Amino acid sequence: MNGTATAASLVQIVTTDLVAITRGRSMAADDSSVWQTQGVGWVPANLALDPFDAIATPNPWGSTGDLRLKPDVAAAVMIEEIPGRPPLQFNIADIVELDGTPWPCCPRDFLRRALAALSEAGLRLIATFEHEFTLTDGTVRAAPAFSMLAHRRREPFLSTLYSALRVAHVEPETMLAEYGAHQYEVSAAPARGLAVADRAVITRELTRELADAFGYAVSFCPKLSPEGVGNGVHIHFSLRDAAGNAVSYDPLRPGGLSETMGAFAAGIVRHLSALCAITAPSPVSYLRLVPGHWSAAYACLGDRNREAALRICALPAAAGDPARGYNLEYRPADATANPYLVLGALIRAGLAGLRDHVPPPPLVNTDPAALTEDERAQLGATRLPKTLAAALAALEADDEVCGWFPPKLLETFFAVKRQEVALAAGMSAEELCRRYAAVY
Ligand code: GLU
Ligand code: MG
Repeated sequence: MNGTATAASLVQIVTTDLVAITRGRSMAADDSSVWQTQGVGWVPANLALDPFDAIATPNPWGSTGDLRLKPDVAAAVMIEEIPGRPPLQFNIADIVELDGTPWPCCPRDFLRRALAALSEAGLRLIATFEHEFTLTDGTVRAAPAFSMLAHRRREPFLSTLYSALRVAHVEPETMLAEYGAHQYEVSAAPARGLAVADRAVITRELTRELADAFGYAVSFCPKLSPEGVGNGVHIHFSLRDAAGNAVSYDPLRPGGLSETMGAFAAGIVRHLSALCAITAPSPVSYLRLVPGHWSAAYACLGDRNREAALRICALPAAAGDPARGYNLEYRPADATANPYLVLGALIRAGLAGLRDHVPPPPLVNTDPAALTEDERAQLGATRLPKTLAAALAALEADDEVCGWFPPKLLETFFAVKRQEVALAAGMSAEELCRRYAAVY
């Protein structure tokens, strides 16, 4: 034997799939000259996995084909300080063909193409994902909503998570005890490009890693019990022009919505039913999207209205230039959705609105559920799909939205999601929550 063998630490090279599970393979961190250039092997049919590890069939690949997971050096994470565990090292990857070209079904590449289309339109998106999750140690009794006690009971977990997110360049902003029992929320500073969705993946994985390390049970599942408070994922976004100027805000127009952002928002509202299949893509998602839960059950735009699917948010005057803080929030999303598909689809919908010069949606400033059918119709506030099956039917009927996806990606998405619909058909709402909470 030649040379001296040394101990190894592992780096995980990962992709996030259609059911928002981050999966991958590991290599020795010090073999970076190999994995950074060649990546690691991957299998096309992995994209057809459902949340319970069954491969949806038929899918376009079956047992054939080979791909690589090619790490993006800009999306590497290394967290040294994890109580009782070795450092966590992982690198978010693109799925590529053996010759290194993008695999058309890679979810991260779906977002990259949407970002390129936005940039061709002379725009950039500044965005961030806000995550709610439930964290328990088995105690039944929860501390009061938003309480100091609810926060302090989960220290040093919350501070450790906050620090880890900082080290991972997620730029966390607020950490809070939320309204629901044992519910917490973390938000992050807005970012640009692929990093927005990468940060969502990193946030979920670091939260899960640290919860494990601290001996807590964590779940991002949209509902843990049918009558409980939902865990949402809200996406805040605003537009800049190519020179970096904020272009979402116009103080002279209703709600402060610029002409550009008005058309972008209108594109999203127009496609909301189909978008739900992508942003709220599980049977359990629809237990959350019900009126009266601040999760947004109606397709409409509201000015600071938490029952509207799209909400105008404004920052305090002290935050400086209102144009820079002004943003919209997309609410009917959850952590069973792939963040790359979510963000890519929102961009595509916004671009369709801009292309068609869709007039800005009317502002709905009361709870749509409190309006009459006629009033809602006048405001164009339609009820979002009530089941995943209905959302999938809306997606299938929306040629524009279907056209954003490479055919095999769309085919696989439908195969996986229909498998979930079939599985859920035999379950009570309680069982649905239990099964999905165990995965998410
Ligand atoms: N938990 C609510 C949801 O399911 C959101 C509450 C809020 O932060 O406004 O989306
Ligand atoms: Mg919240």
